[in-house]
Amino acid sequence: MAKRDYYEVLGVSKGASEAEIKKAYRKMAIKYHPDKNPDDSSAEEKFKEAAEAYEVLSNADKKARYDQFGHAGMGGASGFGGGGFGGGGMSMDDIFSQFGDIFGGAFGGGFGGGGHRTRVNRGSNLRVRVKLTLEEVANGVTKKLKVNKYVSCKKCSGTGAEDGQMSTCPTCGGRGQVTRVMNTPLGQMQTSSTCPSCNGHGSTIAHKCTACYGDGIVKGEEVIEVKIPAGVGNDMQLSVRGKGNAGAKGGVPGDLIVLVEEEEHPLLKRDGNNLHYELYVSFIDAALGTTVEVPTIEGKARIKVDAGTQSGKLLRLRGKGLPDLDYGSKGDILVHTNVWIPKKLTKDEKKTLEALRDSENFRPDPAKGEKSFFDKMKDYFHN
Ligand SMILES: [Zn+2]
Ligand SMILES: [Zn+2]
Repeated sequence: MAKRDYYEVLGVSKGASEAEIKKAYRKMAIKYHPDKNPDDSSAEEKFKEAAEAYEVLSNADKKARYDQFGHAGMGGASGFGGGGFGGGGMSMDDIFSQFGDIFGGAFGGGFGGGGHRTRVNRGSNLRVRVKLTLEEVANGVTKKLKVNKYVSCKKCSGTGAEDGQMSTCPTCGGRGQVTRVMNTPLGQMQTSSTCPSCNGHGSTIAHKCTACYGDGIVKGEEVIEVKIPAGVGNDMQLSVRGKGNAGAKGGVPGDLIVLVEEEEHPLLKRDGNNLHYELYVSFIDAALGTTVEVPTIEGKARIKVDAGTQSGKLLRLRGKGLPDLDYGSKGDILVHTNVWIPKKLTKDEKKTLEALRDSENFRPDPAKGEKSFFDKMKDYFHN
């Protein structure tokens, strides 16, 4: 999905002033605020999109990079593939922790219904897909994933300050809170809220680190080991705590969300913990009986085909399926028997078969002992 232009997202021109950008964002944020649009995911998306645009356009350094290089300057497109920097991956917590003060009094004193949110900078979650073969699903696997992400800036140890120097926040005098006095018809009311200048830290950066522009985080990569348990299913998500993007200015990292993608096995089709296999036998083998090889996850297993086996007969290799993620008990391989009828015959083959054409035993007689499909299913589930 192509990312929209940040100016377009906020509905401002490229020459918009800082105040205009802030005003535009505030309007969008209030309109699409989750408290106003409960359970509306499109509003939430717009809310996040606006927050992301504002994060960049409200920061002089980031804005300059964006103006020059566009989205490419921001570390690539959002999200999947392990290569993303999670540009679109801001969580609601990120947005509130970074821009909560933009709302001012619009939503009362605090978000989320209870007083103040702690303004800890939390790194955004990072999403990666991991492809697993059926063998890996069956046995579980430890994957080493090379992930592009924001990491803590080494130059400033993640503080964002050159030489680690911080100074007391002039807005709140180091308290991290600001008190507002409002005149209301009921008299004066005092509200205190987290200091917008320092996000409640009480200190601000004296000189911004030149490596990270004061963010405390830089683009980097990390090899992350992810243990994937046996029995996971397609589209399952595993989350690895604290392995997402590093949080700005010494904040806490987000999580790494691993999305499982199952590669199709060429022969075995998965159905929950069971695997299905289509077996083809010649009608001679079906008539005389034989032993055949069936592929399994580990290799091969032999299975007996009784004399007189009909097409559609279900055979079962017990415990050769996949382990249950929760209980560890294994499913089965269900072998569907198909009797193969030759499409081409030589003269001699025709002669041999012609000799059998009128033979009593070769005449179909479904009434004689051949069970219906439903009877077969009943048999299967009761033995
Ligand atoms: Zn730095
Ligand atoms: Zn402050």
